[in-house]
Amino acid sequence: MNNMITLNIKETLIINTIMNMSYDTIYFKDINSRIILSSKAHAKLWGLDDPADAIGKTDFDFFPEEFARKALKIEQEIMATGVPVTDIIEELRREDGKKMWLSASKYPLYDTNGNIVGTWGTSKDITTLKETEEELKKVNAKLKAANLKLKALSSKDTLSGLYNKGHYFDVMKSSFEIYKRRRIKGQNNSFSLILFDIDNFKDVNDTYGHLMGDYMIRHISNIIRNSVRSSDTCCRYGGDEFAVLVYDTDLDDAIEIAEKIRKNIENSRANYMGIQVKVTASIGVSTFDESYDFIDMIDKADKRLYISKSRGKNKVSCLSAY
Ligand code: GH3
Ligand code: MG
Repeated sequence: MNNMITLNIKETLIINTIMNMSYDTIYFKDINSRIILSSKAHAKLWGLDDPADAIGKTDFDFFPEEFARKALKIEQEIMATGVPVTDIIEELRREDGKKMWLSASKYPLYDTNGNIVGTWGTSKDITTLKETEEELKKVNAKLKAANLKLKALSSKDTLSGLYNKGHYFDVMKSSFEIYKRRRIKGQNNSFSLILFDIDNFKDVNDTYGHLMGDYMIRHISNIIRNSVRSSDTCCRYGGDEFAVLVYDTDLDDAIEIAEKIRKNIENSRANYMGIQVKVTASIGVSTFDESYDFIDMIDKADKRLYISKSRGKNKVSCLSAY
């Protein structure tokens, strides 16, 4: 008997400690979702100093209607099914306009005969955690945008605004693989490579200075870029060397494009600080169909470019031998 009393005192002490001291809210509700027992933290969430004032009240008396309706629906489901609902995230807009986040778990409440007579539950204020998570999401989005910008910058040549050598090789490699896969699927389209080297560029630097040389590089870059489709890839892969990847274009069409660019360059004048300078470029063309791999494709175009040089410059070559 003594033992029994001691146990009851202990139980009361434990329950009172939990109900008065826990930072997490704890509540017990009847079948109509009215409070039977409320912890101090739960009463505080409702704006009450004394948990006794919460008894008989519902969420509708203290929370926004939508929030209370959602909670009631969940509690009714729990009572109908006997299945607890755990770790649900609830967003609560408080009277002062501030947003609050709660992580809640709700369970069926049984009487001694095993009948469901209500619900009970706990909730934890996770506002700080949630705000940190939101902040982190924003920072991550900014970081992603900055990374994309950085990637774009690191693949561009600063003088010409065209893609640089690294990107040229990357795109050649990936394009070759893509067209190879297309071939396996039975698609016949090809892509081609046009390489350019400015003729006698050293003379431009020596005669007019490096600033004119730099201007000439931008001038040629603009002509090349404006002579092809915006989807084609234009690169500056060396001092006065340029590459254009023309997609869905076979060798004959690529030669036509190369010839058009050659003429555009020949007919242009680099006009810098009142000085007009004539310029030409030698060109080599290769295509996907005749190449083992992307290195072979680059090698073929490169050799043909030098054939154009050795044949007197300002020419387009598409054959590996005279
Ligand atoms: P070729 O007709 O055979 O092509 O000869 P070239 O005079 O054009 O000389 P080459 O292609 O062998 O050399 C290119 C020169 O371009 C060498 C280098 O001084 C110059 N150069 C490389 N990068 C730049 C640059 O960024 N600005 C300027 N102004 N000149 C550059
Ligand atoms: Mg040159």
